[in-house]
Amino acid sequence: MKKFDPSTSIHDYLVFGEFGDVNPSVTDSSTFTFISPERMDELFDHEIEGCFLYSRHWNPINKYLSNALARLEDTESAQVTASGMGAISSTILNICSSGDEIISERTIYGGTYAFFKNFLPKFGIKVKFVDIKNLEQIENAVTSRTRVIYTESVSNPLLQITDIPSISKIAKSGNIKLIVDNTFSPMIISPARLGADIVIHSLTKFINGTSDCVAGCICSSHDFICSLTDINSGATMLLGPVLDSYRAASILKNLHSLHIRIKKHSENALFLAEEFEKMGLKVFYPGLKSARDHALINQIMNAGFGYGGMLAIDAGTYANASKLMTRMQEEKVGYLAVSLGYFKTLFSSPGHSTSSEIPEEEQKRMGLSEGLIRFSIGLDNDITIAFDRIKKCLKEIKII
Ligand SMILES: *Cc1c(COP(=O)(O)O)cnc(C)c1O
Repeated sequence: MKKFDPSTSIHDYLVFGEFGDVNPSVTDSSTFTFISPERMDELFDHEIEGCFLYSRHWNPINKYLSNALARLEDTESAQVTASGMGAISSTILNICSSGDEIISERTIYGGTYAFFKNFLPKFGIKVKFVDIKNLEQIENAVTSRTRVIYTESVSNPLLQITDIPSISKIAKSGNIKLIVDNTFSPMIISPARLGADIVIHSLTKFINGTSDCVAGCICSSHDFICSLTDINSGATMLLGPVLDSYRAASILKNLHSLHIRIKKHSENALFLAEEFEKMGLKVFYPGLKSARDHALINQIMNAGFGYGGMLAIDAGTYANASKLMTRMQEEKVGYLAVSLGYFKTLFSSPGHSTSSEIPEEEQKRMGLSEGLIRFSIGLDNDITIAFDRIKKCLKEIKII
């Protein structure tokens, strides 16, 4: 298999359809015929590559998209799911049994945090939340029951960068799988190359890029994907988070332009981050030379895609953040909406959902303020127009 080289585009790796169609045919079947009952028995006994049984297990278009994502993340295999949460919950439930433990970064996506904190205890799976920047704390949390270290490559909402190579060393010293959610930084960071065992995406965000669907994926070794799809015991097979094949086809088409979009998101975000910093605002963006993790991201990133489209600023108080977001929407800077990776700029106030594990003192020290606004910067052709509008709003509210 050709290795993913971030200096080229992913076009090199996509395959054409069965009739030479430039886009593979959309699978329009839930079930597949067999030549003989013996062939069907064989498939029940062990997976046969390229042979399809039932669409919840595999179907051709989902396989095409999965293969493209495996190449994007440089893993042996991958499987697409109906949502990012479907990917995360299936992966965890495939690995962990009652009594097992997970060590997790504490500033993770709100849905993942709620799944870990409120849902997993029902199954006797314990999650220890740690400061992922503190390697000693991670090491101290490891026990003989630790099965997973879970982190995001870029943390939410302060956009800190995780030292994947160092954490991978801790995971490899035990029988522990390192799972990295790479939703904020596709193409920019390749967690599997840095030592992650499993890479997860919410395809809903940058990878699809048009905010018109919800989807996810799990990228890992051939063995792990086989265990997930095992007909008798696999989590994705039995929990059933199958991606609709029409959506798989539309996501595959959007994936073709991911490299161009990521560059533009990054270019626009860096421009705004630098301008905001010059104005004296408190800005969180790993591409800033002053950012705490600037050296770390330079060390681990793939060159040529920039530092990503996510940035945060501190408007001081929640009231200011609120006013600013309302005015920015009126001025057509973008939309006041959660989610990210859309072609227009989105902004929202991260709130407290993911930060409740962090003592208030430390929240302050980290810069987790009530006035924080998280931006997903859009693909504006001329970002200076948005900048001028934001500046006008900032002055009006007297933030600058
Ligand atoms: C959105 C998101 C998820 C959840 O994905 P869904 O597709 O909404 O289920 C998980 N992780 C991160 C970092 C996200 O931004």
